[in-house]
Amino acid sequence: MTAAGPHDDASRIHDRCRICGSSGMIRYLDMGATPLANSYLTDQQLETPEPVAELALQVCIGCGLSQLTRVVDRDLMFRNYLYVSSTSQTLRNHFAELAATAMRVAAAAPGDAALDIASNDGLLLSCFRSLGMRVVGVDPARNLAAEATARGIPTIAEYWNPAVASQVIERYGRPMTITAQNVLGHVDDVHEFVQAVEIALAPQGIFIVELPYVVDFIERNEFDTAYHEHLSYFGLSPMRRLLGAHDLDAFDVDHFPDIHGGTIRVFACHAGTRRPSARVTAMLRTEEDSFGIAASDVYVAFGERVRQNMAELARLLLTLRQQGKRIWAYGASAKGNTLMNFSGMKAETVPMVVDDNPKKWGLYTPGARMRIVGPGELATAGVDHLLLLAWNFESEIVRRSRAAGYRGSYVRPVPAVAVFD
Ligand SMILES: [Zn+2]
Repeated sequence: MTAAGPHDDASRIHDRCRICGSSGMIRYLDMGATPLANSYLTDQQLETPEPVAELALQVCIGCGLSQLTRVVDRDLMFRNYLYVSSTSQTLRNHFAELAATAMRVAAAAPGDAALDIASNDGLLLSCFRSLGMRVVGVDPARNLAAEATARGIPTIAEYWNPAVASQVIERYGRPMTITAQNVLGHVDDVHEFVQAVEIALAPQGIFIVELPYVVDFIERNEFDTAYHEHLSYFGLSPMRRLLGAHDLDAFDVDHFPDIHGGTIRVFACHAGTRRPSARVTAMLRTEEDSFGIAASDVYVAFGERVRQNMAELARLLLTLRQQGKRIWAYGASAKGNTLMNFSGMKAETVPMVVDDNPKKWGLYTPGARMRIVGPGELATAGVDHLLLLAWNFESEIVRRSRAAGYRGSYVRPVPAVAVFD
């Protein structure tokens, strides 16, 4: 993308709930005007100001859906996407389990079609393929769609919508399993998205959607998983309302506390084809009603905790720097960019960020403008502290950085600031 100066033309105000249409939305965390989280910069682009958009959260007190106050033009974010899921072992294991579970629950047979929406580089679909299913992916990132197709995972380079659903039916038949892993939260028109699922899904098929869980988001202070791409923050109760509007039912739910800071997996089917499990009712009652999913004070208190958390981090890093310590970060992730920008940290304090994805090496992070380098640089750089920006992969990062010869300590920023060896 091209940078055209510090402006907010790339986004528009979002003031009606995208699920229930209510205008009763309470703003609870304002992180200011920040650059788009995945817009990494080249050396040449350092001279040009970056486009920014307001990053702030609000909750709908009608249905309990948390959502950003702005919507950024999706082509600016998704058409050329650097995040490649294959780089993480944690996700590889999770996807293998997801494919096996989907096939078992759907009672799908080898040869049945499996569709993955926002299929990224095709990692999840390769798991379905090794179980014998015929696979098809849909992803708007043309670079990733082309790579996946070249590796034998046919991928349609489009956003998911009813027209693409018809295309899938024509070429592959109705899928027995449709998966949407970490994508529905990135979609503005969620009704169009779910309607297209309803159109495509085989009569006895299942739709499995996975998302970061809003209750974990609030309880664990995971504000840094908010960035411009991540438009909505779901719980089961707003999800059921959305599915129900398109004749789909949530019949089961699962919770993975360690995936992306807490993920829910919702199983849906055509209305009336399966009986809801006890886990659905249990999660609605014990997790969401008692939590207060549509109660504004829960969110306002979260906003206050987060501001204190960031002030504490800024104090620690400035103190370390005054003591002459060398601080780098690990994980050039969207959440890292949110955290750096909200805490006001810049490359003067944290000049380098290590990342495992070679596609990012040599680029700079938006806003803070840290230079991205590979783990190999850690052996000789004499770094004292590594700030864990991708804290959801903490154990993996500790292992990899130690293997790369790193001997310093780690700073965990969220949910509370902690230094450990
Ligand atoms: Zn609502």
